[in-house]
Amino acid sequence: MTDTEPKTADEHREDGAPQEAADAPVVPSATTDPPPVVEFKGVTKTYSAGKKNAFTAIRDINFRVEDRPDTGEFVAVLGPSGCGKSTLLRLIAGLKPQHPATEGEVLVDGEQVEGPGPDRGMVFQDYTSFDNRTVLDNVAFGLECRGTGGEEREARSREWIGRVGLDVDKDADKYPYQLSGGMRQRVAIARSLVLHPRIILMDEPFGALDPMTRFRMQDLLVGLWRHLEATVFFVTHSIEEAVYLGERIYLLSSSPGTILQEIEVPPPDRPAQEMQREASFVDTVFGIRETIERLEIEAEATNG
Ligand code: ADP
Ligand code: MG
Repeated sequence: MTDTEPKTADEHREDGAPQEAADAPVVPSATTDPPPVVEFKGVTKTYSAGKKNAFTAIRDINFRVEDRPDTGEFVAVLGPSGCGKSTLLRLIAGLKPQHPATEGEVLVDGEQVEGPGPDRGMVFQDYTSFDNRTVLDNVAFGLECRGTGGEEREARSREWIGRVGLDVDKDADKYPYQLSGGMRQRVAIARSLVLHPRIILMDEPFGALDPMTRFRMQDLLVGLWRHLEATVFFVTHSIEEAVYLGERIYLLSSSPGTILQEIEVPPPDRPAQEMQREASFVDTVFGIRETIERLEIEAEATNG
């Protein structure tokens, strides 16, 4: 369906005047809130369900991320390695074999996810580019699939190459092997965001980068997110990264992953490197680390 059209910000509230009270029931959608952008209802994923090697990766996950008209939300999904972060993210993306869930419902805009769709863009940790395509052709790939015409496709791709901080003139004709890890991840981000997905799914995208490059990429992402006004799900096992980037953090327990706690943190308002060495930031990180340890112990005690 055509749910990729962004709603204009000033359209959702014409004025405060109440409607004429009608005797017949009015169309209910005029007053109902839009469905959450993403909602999980009792979602469990068991790999190889019903077989001897059945393995439950996430269990009974429930959350909802509301639709915010002109700014998307930045959700960080934080948890230890193997706790099911990628499983959760790929369920939203509708990617197999994570999709479909074994139990429960995964809803995007109130509709069950049936598979991948252009409303959801994914960025993985390993820089997923086509080795045999130039930077420009990598970024243009999605538009090409969509049938966007040559000139517009090139213009938009070049625009996004610039947006992610690459040099259009110098880098557009390079091949992935000629780029550093950070640059390749910029290409991967441009490739996904050139399509203006409403939901951006990022799976430890900066996990393989050196600390300085990582700070720069975090700053880049914050800027892009504000520009796109999309809802972001950002998976990481770095507490610092989750606290810096997220507005809301879902803390996952170790396997089988379940949401231990939802934490609200202030959004980033300064460059990553600056903010992350401030005492208040370090305190927040420390507090969350303690919370994780405490909740893990409690969870273990109740689960046996
Ligand atoms: P994370 O991203 O948090 O590291 P994953 O979601 O990748 O965790 O995996 C969660 C658990 O599920 C892990 O123990 C992993 O080994 C297991 N798992 C992931 N994918 C599969 C699969 N396709 N088949 C079987 N087990 C899987
Ligand atoms: Mg993972």
